[in-house]
Formats: sequence, structure tokens, C-alpha cells
Amino acid sequence: TTTELRTTPAVSAIPLEDMDRRHLLHPHQWGASPERTVMVSGRGCTVRDVRDREFLDVSGAGNWACQVGHGRAELVEAGARQLGELAYFSGFFGFSSDKAVELAARLAGLAPDGMDRVFFTSGGSEGVETALKVARLFHHRRGEPDRTWIISRTMAYHGATYGSGTATGFPPMQEGVGPNLPHVVKVSPPYPYRAQEMYGSADVTGYLLQELEETIQRIGPQRIAAMIGEPVMGGGGILVPPDDYWPRVRELLSRHGILLIADEVVTAFGRVGSWLDSPARGMAPDMIVTAKGLTSGYAPLGAVLFRDEIAETVAGGDAYFFHGHTYSAHPTACAVALANVGVLEKDGLIERAHVVADWFREDLAGLTGLPMVGDVRIAGATAGIEIVTGPQDATPVMAGAVTAEMRHRHAVILREYGPTVVLSPPLVIERDEVRRTAAALTDVIERLRPDGTVRQ
Ligand code: PMP
Repeated sequence: TTTELRTTPAVSAIPLEDMDRRHLLHPHQWGASPERTVMVSGRGCTVRDVRDREFLDVSGAGNWACQVGHGRAELVEAGARQLGELAYFSGFFGFSSDKAVELAARLAGLAPDGMDRVFFTSGGSEGVETALKVARLFHHRRGEPDRTWIISRTMAYHGATYGSGTATGFPPMQEGVGPNLPHVVKVSPPYPYRAQEMYGSADVTGYLLQELEETIQRIGPQRIAAMIGEPVMGGGGILVPPDDYWPRVRELLSRHGILLIADEVVTAFGRVGSWLDSPARGMAPDMIVTAKGLTSGYAPLGAVLFRDEIAETVAGGDAYFFHGHTYSAHPTACAVALANVGVLEKDGLIERAHVVADWFREDLAGLTGLPMVGDVRIAGATAGIEIVTGPQDATPVMAGAVTAEMRHRHAVILREYGPTVVLSPPLVIERDEVRRTAAALTDVIERLRPDGTVRQ
């Protein structure tokens, strides 16, 4: 059972918003924009702010998380119980906790055969950082220390620390903070909607495979440690690859002894309709990085899954794995994750992602008739709506005004990634909530002008 949404503001709203502007440096803060929505409470897909305004959360707590919805009692109780039992103990030097062990075993059970080892982090960037270091260390320990290069893709989002931030395929992440991580190279992403302008008349996978092979040859196959990629690109705007893309990439990398890291920070735990997406997409990854949906965002936790051979090489025998964080395998975060995985299973939420996908297909279909909607892409319980100037030239239109209008006029929270409006709701979203979102989007996009502003 869950308690009701708190309906009275906890403190006066105005001073809190002012204090925020004065004292809080936000992640990905956009200049000195005065916009603040200070959240205080959430249940299911509804959140409430300090001004007592109620919003429909179609963003997964603003960040692709919250699979089980807000305020789930099982997670609250698991966290509270563990705080009382043993809030935290280090995982260094042979110490462990019952919850970390249970969770690691649970995740190994969800992973493909031969992928039985798990390293816990506090989130996605730390997980990607871990995977990149382990890729280099694996080759180093096997006598190939020159394998240092990492292949990533433009439009990829992998995190904001130095390694993960360099692997990220958006230049602003690297601007002004260099030198960035050396030996990172980017190849093109699969972007079927823009195939003509990106790949000419070539077949999408054929073009990308040739580019990848040329990149490998240019650097030298013996100098490349790993490629990293999201099975479906989230921050790039829900870019779903052709079916033959990952199997053929995997085959090419294997031929050259290059590891493949699946960044499933967004896709895992039901977001695109499976516990883990990369095995189903034919990636056969050597490592899988997860976070977000692992705890539904209720606690900061990530998990990196390794093929046994990799874990053995970097941390077996007498090999010292000189890597780890104070909060690696945090017992309370692990307890919350176990409860979260339990709810995902008990409530059939992985399967429900497919139901949500059907609702998206039904309700968002109407949007494709609007002149400024270039493409609607659906992958399980996430969807991307790409905004363009019009059917003739399909120039991308930045979608910030759409999400702002959705938030302020319709009280629906979405995210935008460049020209793409993204839906990523809790998996418990209801039929009428999807309908309401689609109707509001229709209203806003109908009023959108090609310069990206919304007619009032
Ligand atoms: N990888 C992907 C695919 C992501 O989308 C994100 C975050 N949006 C990250 C890594 C980084 O995770 P975090 O923000 O938890 O560090």
C-alpha cells in the first residue's frame, strides 16, 4: 500500500525556488535560466511540486528511471529496513553484505550464460568508466598493452566523467575541459530516418560496417581495446538499429579481438521490453553496464556485468584489481534494487513494457500526420518524436519549446534531446495517461512554428 500524495506545500514555495537559484548548481544546468520546478512528492506516474502543482511523469523521474512508479511501498520498506540493519559497509578487502551478494547472484541469473560476475557502482558514468578501464586492463594483463583505443559513436550518451564523457558523442561534453581521454574514436550511429542524408543510397548496416572496418584498419586492429554502444540509443533520440547491425558489428569486432561493451543504462530492466536488451539484439556483449532501472532510481546504484573470462583476467589468481568506490555495492542501494527487481517480476512489468509500446503505437500514430512530425520511433516503453520544419526539407527543429509547453500548459513532464521529444514513463503508466499525453502533444505540436517557438 502507498500513502497519499502530499497536498500542502512543505515550506513556502518562493523562498525555496530562490534558494535553489542561489545555492544549487544543477546537473546539466542551462546557463542562468530561472526555471525551477521543485518536486516534493510522487505516487505512480504523478508528481507534485512545492507550489502544489500536479504533473504527469512521462519521463521516468525526468531521467529514464522509475520503472515501478513513484512511492512503491516495497522499495520504501526494503530501504528503511536495510538502513536499520546495516546502512553501509565497505565492499573492499573481502568485506561484503548479504544484499550485495544476493543482488549479484540475481543479476547473474538474468545475464547470458558465462556472464556471472558483477561490479557495483553508484551510477551509469562510473559503470562506463569501469568498463573502459577493464577493457584496457584485460588486454594489458593478457600481454597486449597496445590495445588502448576505444571506439564509440557520435550521438551516444555514455556519461559525464572523463572517460565516459569522452566516449559520449556530443561535443559540448568535451569542450573546454580537455585534454580529454586519449585514444577514443567515434563512428557514425545507425539513424534509419536520416539514412539518405547520412549514408546516401547505401544500405544502412552495409555503410556503417564499412566505416567501422575502415576505422579499425586506420588505427590498427591490434591497438583497439573495445567498442562501446547502447543497443538502442537513448540520448541520441531513440535510434533503433536495423536488425542485422549488432550481429554484424559483433562478428567484425570478434574477428579483430576487440571487446564489445553494451551500455544498457537506459535499455535494461524493462525500458525497451526485456531485462537486458543487448543479448536479444545479437550484441553478445563482453560487458553490460546498467544503472537507472536497476533501482528504479530509488537509490543511486549501477551494475557492470562481466563475462567470466574478463573478470578472471583482471581480478583472478593473484591479479590486483586496483579499482573501486566507497559506495560500490552499497548495502542499502542493493536492498532497494532487490525489492525493485522483485516488483518488476511480481507485477509483470517487463511484459507490460510491450503493452505500453502498443498504446504508444495506437496513440502516437496520429502525430505522424502533423507536418512538423518527421518520425515516431518506439522501442518498448520509450518513444521518440522527431520534430522537423516540414515534410519537404525535414530540417531538425529543437524541441525545447515543446517540452516546456507540455510542462507548463499540460502539466506533462517529457524530455527533449535536440529535435526529439522522448517519452520514457514509469512502466505502470495507465491507458488514459498515454492518451492524455498524446492529446497534449497533438495540441502543442499543432501550434509549433518552424522556428521552434509555440503559438500561444
Ligand atoms: N549511459 C547511458 C546510455 C545514459 O543514458 C546515461 C545517463 N543518462 C549514462 C550512461 C550515465 O549515467 P549517470 O548519469 O548515472 O552517470
